[in-house]
Amino acid sequence: MSVLTERIFRPGQDGYDDERLGINRAAESLPDHVLAATTEHDVAAAVRLAAERGRPVGVLASGHGPSAPADGAVLINTGRMTGVRVDPRRRTAWIEAGARWSRVLDHATPHGLAPLNGSNPGVGAVGYLVGGGAGLLGRRYGFAADHVRRLRMVTADGCVRDVTPERDPDLFWAVRGGKDNFGVVTAVEIDLFPVPRLYGGGLYFPAEAVPRVLRAYAEWTRRMPEEMASSVLLAANPDLPGVPEPLRGRFAAHVRIAYSGAPEDGAELVRPLRDLGPRLLDTVRDMPYAEVGTIHHEPTDMPFVAYDRNVLLRRLDEDGADTLVSLAGPQAGAPFIAELRHFEGAYGRVPEPPNCVGGRDAAFSLFVGTDAAPESRRRRDELFGRLRPWSTGGAVLNFMGVEDTALDRCAPPTSRPTSTGSGGSRRSTIREICSASTSTSRRSPDRASRDAPLRSAAGGALLSWSAWE
Ligand SMILES: Cc1cc2nc3c(=O)[nH]c(=O)nc-3n(C[C@H](O)[C@H](O)[C@H](O)COP(=O)(O)OP(=O)(O)OC[C@H]3O[C@@H](n4cnc5c(N)ncnc54)[C@H](O)[C@@H]3O)c2cc1C
Repeated sequence: MSVLTERIFRPGQDGYDDERLGINRAAESLPDHVLAATTEHDVAAAVRLAAERGRPVGVLASGHGPSAPADGAVLINTGRMTGVRVDPRRRTAWIEAGARWSRVLDHATPHGLAPLNGSNPGVGAVGYLVGGGAGLLGRRYGFAADHVRRLRMVTADGCVRDVTPERDPDLFWAVRGGKDNFGVVTAVEIDLFPVPRLYGGGLYFPAEAVPRVLRAYAEWTRRMPEEMASSVLLAANPDLPGVPEPLRGRFAAHVRIAYSGAPEDGAELVRPLRDLGPRLLDTVRDMPYAEVGTIHHEPTDMPFVAYDRNVLLRRLDEDGADTLVSLAGPQAGAPFIAELRHFEGAYGRVPEPPNCVGGRDAAFSLFVGTDAAPESRRRRDELFGRLRPWSTGGAVLNFMGVEDTALDRCAPPTSRPTSTGSGGSRRSTIREICSASTSTSRRSPDRASRDAPLRSAAGGALLSWSAWE
C-alpha cells in the first residue's frame, strides 16, 4: 500500500469523520473519498483520481468557511500542509495550503513583520487569501489577495502550476479573489508589512448606549485615516462562566479598534468613542501585533454551526444605523449576531497587477451569522431586505455562507487584465480549466446547494466563548 493510499478515507472507515469535518458544521460533507494531502503531488493525485472516477473535487483546510457540501466528491484535506517560511529581508512569507494565520503570525512577528491576516488567527491563510481577505490592516494596505506574489496550484487537468504574473497573468488575476473555482492552491507567497505593534482592542458598550453608539460610529468612520481599522459587533453575550463577568448575559455593542500608527495618535482618535459613555469593558491598548487575535476575540477551535450571509453597504447614515439597531439591537431579540466592518481606504484601490476581488466600492460590510432554524434565517434575510437602500448589491465572498450559491451575489470584479502578447492563449487556458472544473465551490453556478438537505448540525453554538481565558 502506498503512503497515499494510507491517507485515503472512505465512508465507514476509521478517521473518515475526523478528516471530512471542519469547524463550521453548517455544511457536513459526505465525500466519496477524503484524501489527507501532505504534498502538492498528493493534491495532484487526488484531482486525477476525481477525474478518473467522474467525481467533483472539494477542499478543506480548517473548515471555517465551508462551501456547498462535497457530497460524493473527492475531498482534499490540506490540514497537514502547514509549512510556513518567512524571509525577513524580502519581507515575504511562503505559506502551505493548510497553515492557519496563527502559524504565520508565529513566524513573522518576531521579525517585526505582519501579514494581512483577518480577525481570527485560527482561519486558514490560503482559503482566506483566495477569497480576497479583509483584515485588520486592510484599510491601509488593501485586500490580502492584493499582496500575493506567486502561487503553486493544481488545476482541473491535474497539473501542478507555478502561477506568477509574468507566466500566467490571467490565472494569476482569477485565483486571487476567485476562491477555489480555478483549482487547488498548494502554497502561496505573500508580502509582509513592517507593523510590529497596534493600538487595538474592544470597547464594549451597554445595551442602552447602542443606538447612539451606532450613529456616532458611522459618522466617526468618515474622519478616520487609513491606519484605523474598525468594526462593531452587535450581540447578546451568553450567561456562561467563560464570559468576562461584565459582559455575561448582557447585550453589548463591541467596537473593535486596530490602529497601526503611533499609540498616542490612536488614543486621540478613539477618544470621541470613549466619550460616548461608560463601557462594560475596554481592552483597547498598545499591543504587539502578535496579539491581534484578541481584538475581535472570536472563538478559535471549537466547532460551531453558523448560517452566514453578508451584504456590502455603499454608505451608512443615521437612518441606516437606526434601521440596523431596530432589527439587530438590544430591543429586537434577534436570533443572530450582526457585524458592521468599515471598508474604504486601500480596499478601494485596484492593485497592480489587478485581481478579481470585488466590492471595492463599499463603505461597510454587514455580516450576520445565525443558527439553522428557518425563522432565524428568515429574520436575518429580513434585515438584509430592509437595508437594501444602503446596499451596493454585492457581498464579500469570504463572508458568504452555505446558502449562498449564485455568482451574482458576489460583488462584481473591478477590473480585468487587458490582452498582452501571448495573453490570448492564457485566457483560453482559464476557459479550458473552467470548463473542465470539478470544483464543488458554492460559487459555481452549476452546483447550487440552496435546495440541498441541511444535515444535522453536531455540537457547538454560534457564539461560543471558548476563546475567553
Ligand atoms: C470566525 C471567523 C472569522 C473570519 N474572519 C475573516 C476576516 O477577518 N476576513 C476575511 O476576509 N474572512 C474572514 N473569515 C472568512 C474566512 O476567510 C473564509 O471562510 C475562508 O475561506 C476560510 O478558509 P479556511 O481554510 O479556514 O476554511 P475551509 O472551510 O477549510 O475552506 C473554505 C473554502 O476556502 C477555499 N479553499 C480553502 N483552501 C483552499 C485551497 N488550498 N485552494 C483553493 N481554495 C481553497 C475553498 O472554497 C473552501 O471551501 C472568517 C471566518 C470565520 C469563521
